[in-house]
Amino acid sequence: MSYLFGVDYYPEHWPKERWATDAAMMREMGISIVRMAEFSWAKWEPREGEFHFEDLDEAIEVLAREGIDCILGTPSAAPPAWIIRQDPEIEPMDARGLRRHFGGRHHDCQSNPVYRAHIRRFVTAFAAHYAKNPHVVGFQVDNELGNSHADLCYCPSCTARFQQWLKEKYGGIDALNRCWGTAFWSQQYDDFSQIDAPRQTASGYNPSQMLDWKCFCSDLVCDFHKWQADILRAAAPDKFITHNLMGFTEKVSYYDLGKQLDFASHDQYPGGHFRPRLDVPIADTLASELDFIRSLKNKPFWIMEQQSGITGWDTLGRTPRPGQIALWATQCIAHGADTVCFFRWRSCTFGTEQYWHGILPHNGEPGRYYREIKDFMHQTAPVLAELQGAMPKNEAGILFSYRQEYAIDIQPHHPQLRYLDHMKTYYSSLYRRNIGADFLPEDADFSPYRVLIAPLQFLMTKALSDKLHAYVEAGGTLVLDMRAGIKDEHDLAFDEGPLPGMLADLVGARLTEYDCLREMDGLVHWDGKEYPCHLWSDIMDLTTGEAVAVYDKAV
Ligand SMILES: [Zn+2]
Repeated sequence: MSYLFGVDYYPEHWPKERWATDAAMMREMGISIVRMAEFSWAKWEPREGEFHFEDLDEAIEVLAREGIDCILGTPSAAPPAWIIRQDPEIEPMDARGLRRHFGGRHHDCQSNPVYRAHIRRFVTAFAAHYAKNPHVVGFQVDNELGNSHADLCYCPSCTARFQQWLKEKYGGIDALNRCWGTAFWSQQYDDFSQIDAPRQTASGYNPSQMLDWKCFCSDLVCDFHKWQADILRAAAPDKFITHNLMGFTEKVSYYDLGKQLDFASHDQYPGGHFRPRLDVPIADTLASELDFIRSLKNKPFWIMEQQSGITGWDTLGRTPRPGQIALWATQCIAHGADTVCFFRWRSCTFGTEQYWHGILPHNGEPGRYYREIKDFMHQTAPVLAELQGAMPKNEAGILFSYRQEYAIDIQPHHPQLRYLDHMKTYYSSLYRRNIGADFLPEDADFSPYRVLIAPLQFLMTKALSDKLHAYVEAGGTLVLDMRAGIKDEHDLAFDEGPLPGMLADLVGARLTEYDCLREMDGLVHWDGKEYPCHLWSDIMDLTTGEAVAVYDKAV
């Protein structure tokens, strides 16, 4: 069965007497799937090993009477107070070595074995209880993995796990010393046990260590997800598993996480209060995220959380204008979403997200959001039903790599250079010309694409270089730019041959110098016109290449 529209619902926030009313209103709108339960561990297990799923069972039954199925989230993003009091080492540690405490969410270390034992006990009982319930059709592990974990976790458990990860990667400490260049600033290690998670230092960081740390953190999140997904799949093999991803967030590789999912899902908040400026058009940014989520599994995806009102925690975003929610949801569908769930059903009267508004306001009376979203569902349902499984056939590919992003963001070169911003300039150019694009990992098949845009190919391997060469030799058009072919996979600069190293013959030029355009812009002449250039300039001697544009004086 395919679900066209859904909603995120927290029945535990409301009196039971209201549930039937909510379910009937959902059905009238056109909702057939609901996600629940991902933050309510304390309610389902108030004391260790004492499970109370009765209320959740009842809510599922009430919804089922209206023909609505459920996805249940595991609640590991919010361990209850009794677990934290019992085992305080579960609380995560920040880069300064300080614990982050209970009282919000995501107050957990994902490597901690004591916490994993708590999760195993809960998720095993949870999965067994709902394995045979026909109205529970799928699971979501945790919530927005990687969110709130930007500078977490540097605790002793994660440090030990990082050491083990490094041991498996390098085999011996000599190899690590070589690949991290620890001869610099006397950073040599005698044993893996001397290596710390890269907490705040007195001054500076080792870029190779930071690259490994970021890759380790991504692997840890993937392991945390797999560890729960394995429990769920063993107990309930006929339920799907998806996850609510967040566009280009960088803490975890969605390519890796996506492999564990039956299909990808995405949370979309175009008018989010967390954006620095709300008056900047972001249609291209939203589109790029949707294209990326679709590209993860090269198939249609779900929107698990679609903004349906004002967003806000302590400060608020703008109210969606009339028709704007429908516009956002339509854009999602146009880029490959075949189910759209709106967040949330009703604005909560308490808690951190009091002002993260839902389809219904605090008082539960249907208003403009309800009417607009209901009209949207009724009008769009026939089209969306016809679009199920449909995929675009794009001829432009953008090589997006987490490793390149990590390496560039560790050493951005120019203070204003960010890997994502730079990549999106290419995407936006395609978007403005109505050219669809897929995002590709390094191990993707490049051959279906007429154009492959490969921004900031900073870290170069023989395997990637061979793939890029083969793509060009087969007739593909490859777009490379600055800082390509500079370093090896360990973030060490190549010490032989002219730049751009392995890519020099593809470019048909040697880079003799480069200039970081600090506090100035450059000027380029191209085809009789002048264009400004920002951030960086490479100075090249041509070998087999042909110049189509040349620098002029700085402006
Ligand atoms: Zn930790």
